[in-house]
Amino acid sequence: MLHAPPKELGFPGKTLQYLEQSVAHWIMSHGALAYMMPSISGDLAVRRAAISVREYVAAMDGLVLQGGADISPPSYGEEPMRPEWSGDRVRDLYEIELLWEFMIQGKPVLGICRGMQLINVACSGTLFQDILEMNPGANAHRDDSLFDRFHHEIELEPGSRLAALYPGHHSGRVNSIHHQAIRKLGNDLKVEARSIGDGIVEAIRWQGSGYLFGCQWHPEFHGDTPDLLDGGPIMAEFLEAARASIK
Ligand code: MN
Repeated sequence: MLHAPPKELGFPGKTLQYLEQSVAHWIMSHGALAYMMPSISGDLAVRRAAISVREYVAAMDGLVLQGGADISPPSYGEEPMRPEWSGDRVRDLYEIELLWEFMIQGKPVLGICRGMQLINVACSGTLFQDILEMNPGANAHRDDSLFDRFHHEIELEPGSRLAALYPGHHSGRVNSIHHQAIRKLGNDLKVEARSIGDGIVEAIRWQGSGYLFGCQWHPEFHGDTPDLLDGGPIMAEFLEAARASIK
């Protein structure tokens, strides 16, 4: 969400909700339709009574939680250490509500970057508000000048479902565009990938029934760059779970 859009966009005093193009195209390139799900409460909260989250989610086959602003520390019981790390509490609450409604309805949820952190927080986990501030020895996980061209290696957890998606691979190269990371792992989650060298969590999966998976990198930015981990198997697994959930 853009709670205060830049003036030049022409929406003074309005909130914009966005769908980033690469993630939409990544989904669409696998034969699925991508829709943005606007939040329900907001300026016209009074109309909320006319919209049921259950019915809204019933019309969808799966949820992809895209990247974006920081998770708000109050969403995991902390105060922001710096004002610029306040994140987007409105979006957190909306996405956590959607996440659980999709899971209740047996529909898959895939979290990317912020989306993976949101899954962890929804399962009562916590985050490092800033990786380097709280882990002085950690590797760099973001380079603002390189953005999605900044990469590092991850190790796939042996025996995990993620590793099974990449037969013959124990590791892979991924983009890294985050300064927050998982601190305490949420309930019933399992780590499926870590950054090599510093052990920062890079992928998690829920151990309950249904599909709830998150990765810290952006598979949608990898395209078909040969030395980067192919995002295709992740989207294929998500869409297979969506197909399986259709009754
Ligand atoms: Mn990283």
